[in-house]
Order: sequence, then C-alpha cells, then structure tokens
Amino acid sequence: MSDGFEFCDALGPTKVIHVYEPTINLLGILVVDNTAAGPSIGGLRMAPDVSVRECFRLARAMTLKNAAAGLPHGGGKSVLFGDPKMPAEQKEELIRAFAQALRGNRDYIFGPDMGTNEVCMAWVRDEIGVSVGLPREIGGIPLDEIGATGWGLYHAARIAAQHSDIDLQGARVVVQGFGAVGKHAARFLTHAGAILVGASDSQGMISNPLGLDVQQLIAHKENGHSLGTFANGQTGEPDNVVDIECDIWIPAARPDVINENNVERLNTRIMIQGANIPCTASAEERLYQRGILVIPDFIANAGGVICAAMEYQGSTQSAALQAIEEKIANNTEEVLTLAKQENLAPRQAATQMAEKRVRNAMTYRRFSSFSNAPNYS
Ligand code: NAD
Repeated sequence: MSDGFEFCDALGPTKVIHVYEPTINLLGILVVDNTAAGPSIGGLRMAPDVSVRECFRLARAMTLKNAAAGLPHGGGKSVLFGDPKMPAEQKEELIRAFAQALRGNRDYIFGPDMGTNEVCMAWVRDEIGVSVGLPREIGGIPLDEIGATGWGLYHAARIAAQHSDIDLQGARVVVQGFGAVGKHAARFLTHAGAILVGASDSQGMISNPLGLDVQQLIAHKENGHSLGTFANGQTGEPDNVVDIECDIWIPAARPDVINENNVERLNTRIMIQGANIPCTASAEERLYQRGILVIPDFIANAGGVICAAMEYQGSTQSAALQAIEEKIANNTEEVLTLAKQENLAPRQAATQMAEKRVRNAMTYRRFSSFSNAPNYS
C-alpha cells in the first residue's frame, strides 16, 4: 500500500490525524496505533524535526510498552513541530490549540515527552478535561521527581542480576545520562548496595572504581555543573563512559548511543535500557552474541507510563511505586524465562509476549482497534 498506509499491519495504526493551523504556525500529528486494551496513552513530543514515520514508530512502541506492562491502555503518540524552547506564551498557544483540535478523540490521552512537561499537560487538561503527568496540585504524581522510571530500572536490574548470578551488593554500575531517569536509577541501585563506578552527561564523564557518591553527584548537577567537572574521580569525554568496566551498564540519555562503531568496547555483563532504543538493531544483536544480557527498553523503562496510568485511575504515589515494582519485576522474569526456553534474544521474547497480549485483547473487540474509551463529557 502507499499514500501513508505503508505502516499498516495487523495491529494498527487505527488513526493518523494531521493538524494544521497556519495563523499560529501549528503543525502536528496524532497517531493512535491500537486501542484494544483501552484508550491509548502516549507522550506529546515537541521538536523541530519530527515526522509521521517517527510518530508511528513511537506510537507502536507505546502499544507494546503498555501491553507488556499489563495496562488497560493502547498505544498512541502525538508530535508538534517547533522548537520546545520557544517563548512560553507561544508554546502555550500551540499546545492549547493542538489539544482543542484533537478534543473529539477519546481514544488518546496526552502525556509528557521530549519538549513537554507537567505544565504543558495542565494546559491540555484545562482545554479538553483529560491528560496525564499533571502537576501535583491538580492530582498529578510527579513521575520524574519521584524517579518512577529509575525505580522500574532498579527492579529490572535486580531480576536480571539474579539470572546472571550477580550479587547486587557490590555490583559495579555505570549510568550514561544523569537526568530524570539516570540519576534515580543510580540512587536506587546504590541504596541496594551496588557501587556507581561511572556516570556521564552531555558534557563529560566521571569514573572511580572505588565508587562515586550519588547524592554528591546529584547536588553537583543541581548546582549547574557537568559531571565532567566532579572532583572525586577520573574525568573524560562523554563517550568514554562506554569503556568503563562494570557489571550493569545503563543507557539513560539518547537513542542509538550503542552502535556498530562502539559496541565492541562495552565491558559489562548486563545492560538495562533506560533510554528508548539506545542500541541500533545490529548492535543489540551483537550484544546478544557476546553474551551480554540486555533488558529491552519497553520492559525496563515502563515505570513512567505505569505511574501515568495509575494517576489516570486516581491512584496514590505509593500505590504507583508498588505497581511499578510488581509489573516490572514480573515482566523481566517472564521475558527472561521465555527467552531461555525458546532460545530467543530478550527483545524477541519481549516483543512476542507484548504482541500476544495485544492480540488477546483484540479478540474481545468487534472492530479491534476502534475506540473503547470512556465518555468524558
Ligand atoms: P533528561 O533530559 O532528564 O536527562 C537526559 C540526560 O542525558 C541529561 O543528563 C543529559 O545531559 C544526558 N545526555 C544527553 N546526551 C548525552 C550523551 N551523548 N552522553 C551522555 N549523556 C547525555 O531525560 P530523561 O527524562 O532522564 O530521559 C532519558 C531517556 O530516557 C530519554 O531517551 C527518554 O526518552 C527516556 N525515557 C524517559 C522516561 C521518563 O520517565 N522520563 C521514561 C521512559 C524513557
């Protein structure tokens, strides 16, 4: 098929909407991929260089992530063209107008993503009555502040370590990217007895085989400094973080950071994927051949969306953290068991498990991907 239908397969997408309003330079896309399990949840991304293809890939990733996490939600994603650092009034006007243009879509729930945050979600809710990832004052559970995704990474690491005969007590951890995901993963893992031996941000890297103090590193970042200027260790370029010998390596920065050019340099036993698609497909295949255990992104980093789904149900922060722990620990266990039984790479096993859950949900539907969202009005 052509004319934009080239993405269609047995799962979706069920809907692709282009929004255009020339008077305010509004150009946006919504892709609702699959809603068999419930109304789709996915982030609103704001960037100057997004595309329908990227939006579709991100929406499909949400279908699999939400299904793998056992959430009553399908997958969707929306993108707005523009520089997220534009003046606040202009950004607010665009986001409010985009939400208004999509107000009739009950099968998509906006959440935060790159270039948007809880304030943007408050604007969306003010316009159309629903969104997730809200400020605390209006019922939100601030997922980045509490470290929802880092908490999930910790539990994925805990189960992966058991499967690899690694004692978390004393396990050497390296974290690439020390933002909302990376710093909390480091915090939870070191709290459980692991040792942070290396970390990086976009400007530099710090390593110390005797261990780095996570609270001091967090304070250093909060004071506006790069990790590459931290005193207690050996500093270097951001990319040097790939070479540090460790037991658990956590990418928590950008896509495709491990690729054909550097995959042989990784010196770890386990990778827990915090960032989305941090490895190219061939690099991940190479890690599998090298016997490095990889817990794929949509299993390991689902803590944020689990938290958002719990917020949507009106749940509390402690219940959300409990749900993240249970779901991610159980899913990691299930994926690793399936991978072992069927001799599959963990990503293949995880995809098989998630797709099966989506297909099962689809059997209950007459039109499997049409909206089954509640009526908000
Ligand atoms: P963030 O902006 O808070 O932090 C990103 C960190 O990565 C920053 O410290 C930045 O300096 C660093 N960085 C950027 N380029 C780098 C490079 N080349 N080398 C080393 N460090 C680099 O972002 P975040 O919310 O922590 O998200 C990180 C990743 O995890 C993103 O890929 C995001 O899509 C993904 N993710 C986030 C969540 C969440 O809950 N926030 C959930 C799932 C997936």
